[in-house]
Amino acid sequence: MTTGWLSHELYMWHDTGASAGVMPPGLGVQPGTPYENPESKRRFRNLVEVSGLIDHLKVLKPRSATEHEIERVHTRAHIENIKAMSAAGGGDASYLSPFGRGSFEIALLSAGGAICALDAVMRGEVKNAYALVRPPGHHAVPDLGMGFCLFGNVGVAIRHAQATYGLERIATVDWDVHHGNGTQAMFYRDPSVLTISLHQDNLFPADSGSCEENGEAEGKGFNINIPLPPGCGNGAYVEALRRVVIPALQRYRPELIVVPSGFDAAGVDPLGRMMVSSDGYREMTRLVLTAADELCGGKLVMVHEGGYSESYVPYCGLAVLEEMSGVRTSIEDIWAPLMANWGQQALQPHQAAAIAKAAQLIENLPSR
Ligand code: ZN
Repeated sequence: MTTGWLSHELYMWHDTGASAGVMPPGLGVQPGTPYENPESKRRFRNLVEVSGLIDHLKVLKPRSATEHEIERVHTRAHIENIKAMSAAGGGDASYLSPFGRGSFEIALLSAGGAICALDAVMRGEVKNAYALVRPPGHHAVPDLGMGFCLFGNVGVAIRHAQATYGLERIATVDWDVHHGNGTQAMFYRDPSVLTISLHQDNLFPADSGSCEENGEAEGKGFNINIPLPPGCGNGAYVEALRRVVIPALQRYRPELIVVPSGFDAAGVDPLGRMMVSSDGYREMTRLVLTAADELCGGKLVMVHEGGYSESYVPYCGLAVLEEMSGVRTSIEDIWAPLMANWGQQALQPHQAAAIAKAAQLIENLPSR
């Protein structure tokens, strides 16, 4: 079986306006290109084609999520708000989430893309799948959009999986450099979903993603945050997977693993302060794939989140897809050996201490 690959040109037409970086016009800064723009995603998609890897993948098509499917994780008021603003020409979903006319429909197609990738895996049409969707989703909370996200694509897909396939244990491994606060919020009191997030400590949103946020009520123990100090490279990320993520997965025994996949922990990303290279993402993918093979018949769905380096996201994405599909192309990442040689790329003692602290959370996770 092969790997599914899902994207759509409309994802690139979601219009995030004329902010400079993340600063909206009118705040004393020249209007310009927002960090969250189509280019890194489009180049990722183009490299999958130019490298020839696409010939080895099963191309999947998205459908639009229904409002009913969105409402499984969002309030009706939030859906109506985005819908009305989109029809009126756009606006801000609440906090750093600018969007334009028609973005509501594109956001439905984005959430629907995550659903379709998941369906293809669950129906056995593909071994695993990557959904390159946009807008991203992991910051959107039930009643608000946030941080470039309108609807929680992964949350919508997980609720769909539960409703359609009766899954009782689904795990997420969010390796975007920012905290997956939205996904966390959607399942914070719910033991049927184990949410794990590796992220730069207190980067975004503010005051979010500490080890102390460990789930509530029935969900106590089922949310694991791994806040990492700035400057972590491949060594720290691989260690975090080996020491925390994989043991947590082994204890939880998910029936499906979903990775909210952001490439903004890469060494040249403008919005993160980490040093991961495409080889780091490659190794992390190997570890998650091995866990999926061991625990859930290889069922793994990746759903795209952040990653803002136009030139580097494509290499990271290609490396992940090469590992998922088992097909190595001739494309070489010229940055990878340079980044591998950067100072403190290997695991540092203060990073190991942060990871060891998060590893203590595994004891709070009831074993299955
Ligand atoms: Zn991010």
